[in-house]
Amino acid sequence: MIPIKEAKSIVEKHLFEVEKEQVLLKNAGDRILAQDVVASFPSPRFDNSAMDGFAVRSVDTIGASNDSPVTLNMVGVSSAGTPSNVSIKEGECIQCMTGAKIPNGADAIVMVEDSSGFSEANVVQIMIEASPGKHIRKEAEEIKKGKVLIPAGTRITPGEVGTCATFGYSTLTVFKRPKVAIFGTGDELIEPGNELKPGEIYNSNLYVFSELVEYTGAEVVRQGIIKDNKDSLRSFLSEALDTCEVVISSGGVSMGRYDYVRDVFMELGVEDHFWKVAQKPGKPLFFGTMDSTLIFGLPGNPVSSYIGFMEWIWPVLTSMMGQKKTKKLTGILKKPFPREKIKSRFIFGEAWIENGQLVCQSSTKVGSHMLTSSLKANCILGTEHGDGPLQPGEKITINILPWKTIK
Ligand code: AMP
Ligand code: MG
Repeated sequence: MIPIKEAKSIVEKHLFEVEKEQVLLKNAGDRILAQDVVASFPSPRFDNSAMDGFAVRSVDTIGASNDSPVTLNMVGVSSAGTPSNVSIKEGECIQCMTGAKIPNGADAIVMVEDSSGFSEANVVQIMIEASPGKHIRKEAEEIKKGKVLIPAGTRITPGEVGTCATFGYSTLTVFKRPKVAIFGTGDELIEPGNELKPGEIYNSNLYVFSELVEYTGAEVVRQGIIKDNKDSLRSFLSEALDTCEVVISSGGVSMGRYDYVRDVFMELGVEDHFWKVAQKPGKPLFFGTMDSTLIFGLPGNPVSSYIGFMEWIWPVLTSMMGQKKTKKLTGILKKPFPREKIKSRFIFGEAWIENGQLVCQSSTKVGSHMLTSSLKANCILGTEHGDGPLQPGEKITINILPWKTIK
């Protein structure tokens, strides 16, 4: 059994980034950027109007009010997409719509609401004083040309897609989705939808794995529930090892009589880096490699599998797609948290803000077979080994589940 820190540094030595590919912007949602997206031009690209109204010289509006309007000559129209080439001179103005280029000579916009309105007439009454720059969106006020808008490693969400379109990107370079094989072992495992016979249970772990792999942005390309016999394991695994960058198993790596997974890994030539880590749940964690393929064997208890994925495999898959490690948070315990003498301890929990402080408590269901402990959870709480439970008021590490929010 090795400490978590040592095991993590072994895994880190075998990490690599997956290849990149070009995708159309419309297909880029949820992919991970493998390039910096740079502002190809300043934004706004030119001074333009923030309102429908009149482009004026602010000096010409001095003293204007409802009771004593200023009359200006209307010498043109500038609309979005059709700028006016006319330069305005003293006493002149141009009708200027939202997004339209500010005509030369103008330094302010008067909203149409503060005038006698748009018309075909060649004069307009201005009812308000306009200060220089009023209602003008200045060139480059949002971003300068050449600035990095979105760094590589960012997940593409609606804001990123929109920003890329704004700056004219029609394709993006993204990381290929790591190919992942997931499998579960156990003669007792039955797929939901079938009737359970005595002693059987439904497979839940592969459903959890499959969701989690998708959340990271990677792709499950092979999956299977395999009986506890070496031949079935061998045939699934030899194909998975050939085609996948990451292979994840649940079950069959403990000390049981029918726990063959590790044996078959070894038979197939997988290099064993560690098996058993000082943690609860999930002590019999196996990590091996074959060529560049990373192989993780997680124990089958549903909470061990789920927490094991989040603590060990989530960071691996995300770093393969160029993402930086997310910092874990620290919170104040509201209730005692059990500690182990020589193992780190992880339990699903809830974290929330109370009086400006991040506070938390673990689920009261602490068994590694109790998957319902994950239901209300928005985080995994973790502590190193120690004597006796951590007490309310003490600090604990919080690993927020990335798709949850802090209440
Ligand atoms: P094992 O690691 O194979 O000894 O399994 C430990 C416990 O997890 C046993 O109670 C198994 O029945 C259960 N288990 C194993 N695989 C799964 C799975 N895919 N879904 C739900 N429970 C599982
Ligand atoms: Mg088993």
